[in-house]
Amino acid sequence: MARPERRVPLTLVVCGAGGAGKGSIVAELIQRDPTLWLSRSWTTRVQRPGEPDDAYVFVSPEDFEARIASGGFLEWARFFEYLYGTPMPDIDPERDVVLEIDVQGAVQIRERDPAALVVLVLPPSREEQRRRMHHRGDDADHVAKRLAKSDAEEDIGRTLADLIIVNDDLDRAVTAVQVSLRERRATDASE
Ligand code: 5GP
Repeated sequence: MARPERRVPLTLVVCGAGGAGKGSIVAELIQRDPTLWLSRSWTTRVQRPGEPDDAYVFVSPEDFEARIASGGFLEWARFFEYLYGTPMPDIDPERDVVLEIDVQGAVQIRERDPAALVVLVLPPSREEQRRRMHHRGDDADHVAKRLAKSDAEEDIGRTLADLIIVNDDLDRAVTAVQVSLRERRATDASE
């Protein structure tokens, strides 16, 4: 639904550790709300087997560095051995943008845009988080490394988040984000 009275689009940041379930929440949210669009990140990591071609813009380290140099990222971060970044978005006054990024990126967005709505997604348990990462094809070594990083990522996320949700029930988690979004949009529209 168009909201012509509001000109400045909102940035919704969905962050959290790997395996927290950010992706499933974002996919369902976009499905439910056509006034949202998902920014497609750039990465230097290789495409996983079975991963859709449009999951990322897969680029070489050289291309990524060139884009950093030209100021073409809203934020970017190194996550283990790879680089990930959000390209400068094309502003669409009718739609709010969703960024599915790590907490280092969320810190940068918060600094640039204090009005961004930041959601931290937590897994129901470390065991469930491990299971999800394993299930999507991460090898055991990589899963262990990412789990070891999770406490620190969550601590940073908690300092930023407007909303913290445990992804144990997808419908409830997505509804919680929708409620926050609705409240924020109502506040923005009344200012
Ligand atoms: P993966 O390699 O598992 O797809 O992603 C690794 C981590 O990088 C995840 O936490 C993911 O959310 C994060 N990520 C994906 N795109 C971006 C981005 O554009 N910027 C930042 N800072 N993190 C990203």
